[in-house]
Amino acid sequence: MRPGRTWAGSHTFGAERLARPRSVAEVQDLLATTERVRALGSRHSFTDIADTAGTLVSLDDLPREVLVDETARTVSVSAGTTYGQLAATLEEKGWALGAMASLPHIAVAGAVSTGTHGSGDGSRTLSAAVATLDVVGPDGTLRTLRRGEPDFAGSVVGLGALGVVTRLELDVEPSYLVSQTAYTGLTWTTLEEHFDDVTALGHSVSVFTSFDERELRQLWVKARADAPPVEAVIGTLPATRTLHMLDGAPEDAVTPQGGVPGPWLDRLPHFRTDVTPSRGAELQSEYLVPRDRALEALAGLRRTADAFRDLLQVCEIRTVAADDLWLSGAYGRDTVGLHFTWDLAIDEVREALAPMEEVLLPLGGRPHWGKVFRAGAAELAPLYPRFADFRTLRDRVDPDRRFGNGFLERTLGD
Ligand SMILES: Cc1cc2nc3c(=O)[nH]c(=O)nc-3n(C[C@H](O)[C@H](O)[C@H](O)COP(=O)(O)OP(=O)(O)OC[C@H]3O[C@@H](n4cnc5c(N)ncnc54)[C@H](O)[C@@H]3O)c2cc1C
Repeated sequence: MRPGRTWAGSHTFGAERLARPRSVAEVQDLLATTERVRALGSRHSFTDIADTAGTLVSLDDLPREVLVDETARTVSVSAGTTYGQLAATLEEKGWALGAMASLPHIAVAGAVSTGTHGSGDGSRTLSAAVATLDVVGPDGTLRTLRRGEPDFAGSVVGLGALGVVTRLELDVEPSYLVSQTAYTGLTWTTLEEHFDDVTALGHSVSVFTSFDERELRQLWVKARADAPPVEAVIGTLPATRTLHMLDGAPEDAVTPQGGVPGPWLDRLPHFRTDVTPSRGAELQSEYLVPRDRALEALAGLRRTADAFRDLLQVCEIRTVAADDLWLSGAYGRDTVGLHFTWDLAIDEVREALAPMEEVLLPLGGRPHWGKVFRAGAAELAPLYPRFADFRTLRDRVDPDRRFGNGFLERTLGD
């Protein structure tokens, strides 16, 4: 089978072939007998991160499993399952996830491997919900890693560098209701003076801007029905119609707004499961800055916005709670994600990212692993306290670099 392209068409895979094993045993056989191999999720990353010179392994044909352990409050899920599929089954059984990304279309193992996150002062990355990981190593051996065990915190955000994940257990909680309200009228002054109040407005809060100096474009608040009512934000008004965060994009692509409570899975993601999320023809970048440097980062971006504004479809500002996963963007610190949806123009975007990284990397901004960035191993190493430990773990698990590719050579240094 031909390996094809990323979801956005931003990268054409150079792999020799695409394999679709039907069982974990077939994954083990494949890995034991294949020289160069990498796992492929739902292709929603924007770069060559998943690519290989050898065989790409899709887990789409593995039997789907979604099994809730009500006592442990975990769900066992097969790696290729999408969050949309997982969420629908959880909701049927009366259970929920604590966080979701902006889109439900992504595969669980792919999202977890890149530190994917949603928004919320108390919401950690999707990776931080992982309690157990089944991974097939380069010799075909299947290992189960559990939270608290020595290699676990290094392996969850693993970038596909440590093996093929076949099954995960994730933390779950009883199902809950969420209402979503979009507001307009938020100004930069209000955001800067009341940043903590704004991001605390709900379970999940997103601010959208195109770096227009007059006002921020939109504020979206997703509030749990079991939490106190949302306070009004100075100067803002609830939108009187459904808003898409992108100019001219169809409003029926986003999850219901208007403050009407509904199941968590129909409100936490921005985009509905049954439609194309975002724009489609686009690139994305994101930098995860320490929360206590976020206002400096925003001031720096406003100063340098002329260098990137013309390529920008929208920027989303969101928060992520700290975790302990070595390569997580939120490792060891509460974090603010500064996300950029760009026109699909790779050379121009890479050029625009140069001055942006000059502002954000010195503030501790860690690039999202699944999106477009320029920094290489020399710039990334100081941003992650456990970077050297991850390299050591990789040397032990995959000394022959059977899971190696160009992306890992650039970002990990070999
Ligand atoms: C429209 C859109 C919206 C997005 N919104 C968000 C958002 O809200 N928040 C956010 O953080 N990110 C967001 N992203 C980025 C996206 O979540 C990440 O790029 C994520 O990795 C995509 O998962 P995937 O399954 O498509 O992974 P892929 O792109 O297929 O693969 C990514 C990496 O995971 C590895 N991998 C995949 N499966 C396995 C496996 N079974 N075992 C081991 N490694 C594996 C691959 O080898 C590769 O290194 C968005 C992307 C798009 C296109």
